[in-house]
Formats: sequence, C-alpha cells, structure tokens
Amino acid sequence: MAWDFETDPQFQEKLDWVDRFVTEEVEPVDRIIEHAWDVSDPTRNKLIKPLQETVRGQELWACHLGPNLGGPGYGQLKLALLNEILGRTHSGPVVFGCQAPDSGNAEILAHYGTPELKARYLGPLIDGDIMSCYSMTEPQGGSDPTSFVTRAVRDGDHYVINGEKWFSSHARFSSFLIVMAVTDPTAPRTERASMFVVPIDTPGIEIVRNVGVWGHSESEGTHAYIRYTDVRVPADHLLGEEGKGFEVAQTRLGGGRIHHAMRTVGLVRASLDMMLERAVSRRTRGKNLSDMQLVQEMIAESWVELEQFRLLVLRTAWKIDQLQDYKKVIADISAVKMVMPKVLGNVVSRAIQLHGSLGISTEMPFGKWLLESYHMGLADGATELHKQQIAKQLLRGTEPSPGLFPTVHLPALDSAAELKFGLQAKGVW
Ligand SMILES: Cc1cc2nc3c(=O)[nH]c(=O)nc-3n(C[C@H](O)[C@H](O)[C@H](O)COP(=O)(O)OP(=O)(O)OC[C@H]3O[C@@H](n4cnc5c(N)ncnc54)[C@H](O)[C@@H]3O)c2cc1C
Repeated sequence: MAWDFETDPQFQEKLDWVDRFVTEEVEPVDRIIEHAWDVSDPTRNKLIKPLQETVRGQELWACHLGPNLGGPGYGQLKLALLNEILGRTHSGPVVFGCQAPDSGNAEILAHYGTPELKARYLGPLIDGDIMSCYSMTEPQGGSDPTSFVTRAVRDGDHYVINGEKWFSSHARFSSFLIVMAVTDPTAPRTERASMFVVPIDTPGIEIVRNVGVWGHSESEGTHAYIRYTDVRVPADHLLGEEGKGFEVAQTRLGGGRIHHAMRTVGLVRASLDMMLERAVSRRTRGKNLSDMQLVQEMIAESWVELEQFRLLVLRTAWKIDQLQDYKKVIADISAVKMVMPKVLGNVVSRAIQLHGSLGISTEMPFGKWLLESYHMGLADGATELHKQQIAKQLLRGTEPSPGLFPTVHLPALDSAAELKFGLQAKGVW
C-alpha cells in the first residue's frame, strides 16, 4: 500500500545540504542587501551570483521547472520540501532561481510565448539574469477580475494598451510585464480579457509610484501603481488566444499559491523554533517560561497548527504531481491558501507574546512576519474567495435528499435495517 511520509534518502541528503547552505551563506546575505530581486544592485550581484553558481552545481537551480526548461524536474513535492527551507529567508528563492512572481511568469511564457519571446525573455528569466512582473490587479478592484477596465485595442499588427494597474510587484526591477487587459468588453465576463507581454521600456508606461508595505523597506516600495497610456505592443506579444486571459492566469496562479504556502511553512517553523528557544531561556518567578502551562499550551497549539498545515501543503503538492492538472486540485490549493495566513498569523503572534517587549521591537523579525500573514491573505486572491471556492467545489455534484428528511435520518435508517433483517418494523415512518 503506497502511503508514505518519508523523504527518499538521496533527496534528504540534498535537503540537508540546502539547510546548511542557507544557514551559513544565504541568511547572512539577507542582513546586507535590501532587495534580492534588484539585478541592478552591484552589491546584490556580488553576493548572490556566486551562491547561484553553487546551487547550479548542486543541480538545485530552478527546481520548479522540468528538464525541458533547464530545471531538474523534481516535481512539486520535492519543491515543497526545498521551499520550506528557503521560506525562512528573503534571498533564498532568488539564490535557488525559484522566486515569485518570476517562477509563475516563466510557466506562462513557456506555455504561451512565441519562440522569439521565449528567446528574448524566458531564457534570461530562467537564468536569473532578468526579473519580471505580473500586472493584473487594478486600483478599483482586485478580487473581481471581471471589473477590470484596462483596455487593449488591436491596431494593425499591434495592440494599444490604456489603463491603470495596482500592486504590480517588482515592476521597478523588471525587464518585462505580463499585463491583463480587456480586448472585448462585450464578450461574456470571463472571456473579455487577454494577456500580453509588455517590455518595460515601451513608451507610455509610467510608474506613478512604488507603494510600500509596512515591515518592508523603509525607502521606496516594490509594488507599482502603473499607468499605461497608448502602450503599443506587437500583436505576437499576445499570450494564448484573445479572450483567454483568465485561462492563462490560471497557469501561474495554481503553482504560485502553493509555492507561497511551501515557503510559509518555513516561516511558521522558524517562529516556533524561536518560541521554543525563548521558552527555555527566559526566567520569571524562579522558573523558565517553559514551565508555565499557558506557555506550554501556546507551544502545543503552534506545533499542531504547523503540522496540520504542512501535511496539507505536502499532500496538495503530491496530488499535483500525481494528477498533473491544477484544475483537479483547485479545492486543495484553495484550502492551503485559506489556512496559510491564519497559521502564520497565529504562530507569529504567539512568538511575539512570548518574547514580550523584545517581540514587538524592530530588533526581532516578527513584525515583518506578522504583516506577511496579511500579505498571504491577499496576494493571489483574498482568503474569502478561497473559502467560497472550497465550498463551491464540495457542493458541486452533491444531491439534495430525496425526501422530506435527510438521508441520514435515524428513524428511516432503523426501518430500513429492520426490513433488511426481517424484524418487525416499528412503523415510525
Ligand atoms: C504583497 C502583495 C503583493 C501583490 N502582488 C501583486 C502582483 O504582483 N500583481 C498583481 O496583479 N496583484 C498583486 N497583488 C494584489 C492582490 O492580487 C490583491 O490584493 C487581491 O486580489 C485583492 O484585491 P484588492 O487588494 O483590490 O482587495 P478588494 O478586492 O478590494 O478586497 C478587499 C477585501 O474585501 C473582501 N472581499 C472581496 N471580495 C469578496 C467576496 N467575494 N466575498 C467576501 N469578501 C470579499 C475581502 O476581505 C478582501 O480582502 C498583491 C497584493 C499583495 C498584498
């Protein structure tokens, strides 16, 4: 019977190497550089590029990709085990070439890009030489993509894009953007939009401002508010067919969501480890914090939440590997996405509490991690939408009860059992 929770020993050796490498080489880089995605920063390049070479040498570069695109093709389960180590760092995903949003954007380009677009962007993106941006959310509404109004109008052998986008992460580090725009406002709601590759140097692109989020950089933010004014792109920069923007989006969102979750497992574990250390280090009233039952409860609840979440992530990754179709694991991915902000928020909050005033100070990373839990509840879709999606999937195909009472109505079950065994019916129904 195939039901196994063990990691194959050869891959475990790789994971052990990654764990050491991240502790010794990657975590110190996080203390020096501000944005691992900023390929124009010479300090970043000096520190990160040699580490990327080491990762390539270990055949761990771009593990989200199959061999056809230069990755080892380990699949999602192994990627999950790798990502949970990388998740405790800022630079880790970039050092290993599997960072968001580039991993998802590479998947889109691989599926839908022309050979020219692939040669120009996909190769350098996978090699880590350039970065990319996914520009979909609009200022007037993110949760309802059918409310988007950015337009792309065909003009000869070009499309002309006009509109505004909001929270286009990493636009300022990117060589190109993947932009969703309405091509036919009269089409059914889910067939109005299309997806385009837009080179960042195309005239008409204006970054109105780079919005920051609390807990991240004190200087300029990384989430661009972008205005597109008469931005002309060649018609072959359309990804997939006209009107299939939502379908193209799903190519990246399924993977993107679970990859965030894999990394979040690492952050939750780091928070728990810090709680444990604190509990056995801090003394009060002649005892360790770990001797207090209320503290023990915090630790127990955190560990159970982490384990439940981790198993859900790993099982979902395993299902993706088995089924090779994100559409068949929509409910699982939504479940992972739904649980992720809650578990991270709960465990980080307890870690803050156990660290007292130090916990909320800027001398500890918890404030940033707590904000990260809100980030996880919004990016790639608000939690509420994922709850709705789960319910929708579960309700699909569920039949109403045939009679007045539910199928599991005890008097009816009694009567049926009595009939089956030839006993005298009580005649309750
Ligand atoms: C850190 C971060 C990075 C991001 N990066 C990108 C990016 O690179 N590219 C990009 O295109 N977008 C990006 N986004 C945007 C993200 O996709 C949106 O924030 C998300 O889709 C929600 O849209 P909104 O912010 O407009 O919130 P709204 O749509 O205004 O929703 C606000 C709240 O309303 C409630 N709500 C909304 N709809 C429903 C509903 N149907 N039922 C019940 N309650 C509901 C929820 O509580 C929701 O959180 C990023 C967001 C964050 C936080």
